[in-house]
Amino acid sequence: MNAKQDGPILRGTGTEGARPGISDPNELDIESLTQIDGGAAPKKAGVKYGDTGRPFRVFPAPQPLKGHGPARIIAMANQKGGVGKTTTSINLAASLAADGRRVLAIDFDPQGALSAGLAVKTHDVPTIYDLLIGTERDARNAIQHTLVPNLDVIPANIDLSAAEVHLVNEVARETILARVLRSVTPEYDVIIVDCQPSLGLLTVNALTAAHGVLVPLECEYFALRGVALLIETIEKVKDRLNPQLQLDGILATMYDPRTLHAREVLERVVDTFGDAVLETVIRRTVKFPDASVAGLPLLEYAPDHPAAEAYRQVGRELIFRGAAA
Ligand code: ADP
Ligand code: MG
Repeated sequence: MNAKQDGPILRGTGTEGARPGISDPNELDIESLTQIDGGAAPKKAGVKYGDTGRPFRVFPAPQPLKGHGPARIIAMANQKGGVGKTTTSINLAASLAADGRRVLAIDFDPQGALSAGLAVKTHDVPTIYDLLIGTERDARNAIQHTLVPNLDVIPANIDLSAAEVHLVNEVARETILARVLRSVTPEYDVIIVDCQPSLGLLTVNALTAAHGVLVPLECEYFALRGVALLIETIEKVKDRLNPQLQLDGILATMYDPRTLHAREVLERVVDTFGDAVLETVIRRTVKFPDASVAGLPLLEYAPDHPAAEAYRQVGRELIFRGAAA
């Protein structure tokens, strides 16, 4: 298990309180935020390096599990849209499922992209919204199977956009998702919550229910913008609501190694967050939109594509790090 369990999310971020107004990475006191030994070590001849500048390695297929559950809950969060949260939720879920883990993916975005990407019903069925507001009391009734063995979904649709307004006057409004998931946790090894692009009450619910949070980060110029605010929110939830919460990792997505720009952004991300950045990097490829249209994870749609292999590696790297069973 991860030694970070009782410490701050990132070393040095600790409990020294909020860092008000920091949302631009150029203003961000990165040293005080992380104090991680970031940056690439001097490269040695004859060693193959991965995209993040660490020696390249392949994470092996994990041992089969002897039994199942209780699930570790992972929130997929970044308040920026279009960074790969849903794509990562779908393909990480499929990757862990293919390695024999029982996985439940929760669509926690009113856009319903995760539900669409896994081709489950979103209308005339109980959704996560019904569970949050209590018109459906048992989460098990909202579970749908997908075409992928071991991979189930609780869907969402546009109704979910009304949830924050509905829940704002509830008692313990931040812990509603945690309570909803209690009945299904024993059945699964991993539950992945695909958050909407905001740091509002729904995302706080996801962070409160979760054991860990995975942050997809697009390798684009403004990638780091807003990450300080996200880390601050994670710290606050950890301090006030969910002491077990860990940062499971930062996943660089949409990386194009042919551009200097993307290489510089990735270098900056690794300088900033050090080993919190997963060694596996997701490259930019049009196969992802194609797979979404087909309603399948890329791992099913094009299993031999290098990006499918990359998500297989993300799953195995998380297992290796102790962030999944
Ligand atoms: P988010 O959930 O953070 O809003 P998505 O996962 O929906 O982001 O991704 C946004 C768009 O980018 C989608 O159309 C998706 O198919 C596409 N996409 C995601 N990952 C990649 C990638 N590695 N390369 C190319 N396109 C991608
Ligand atoms: Mg999404």
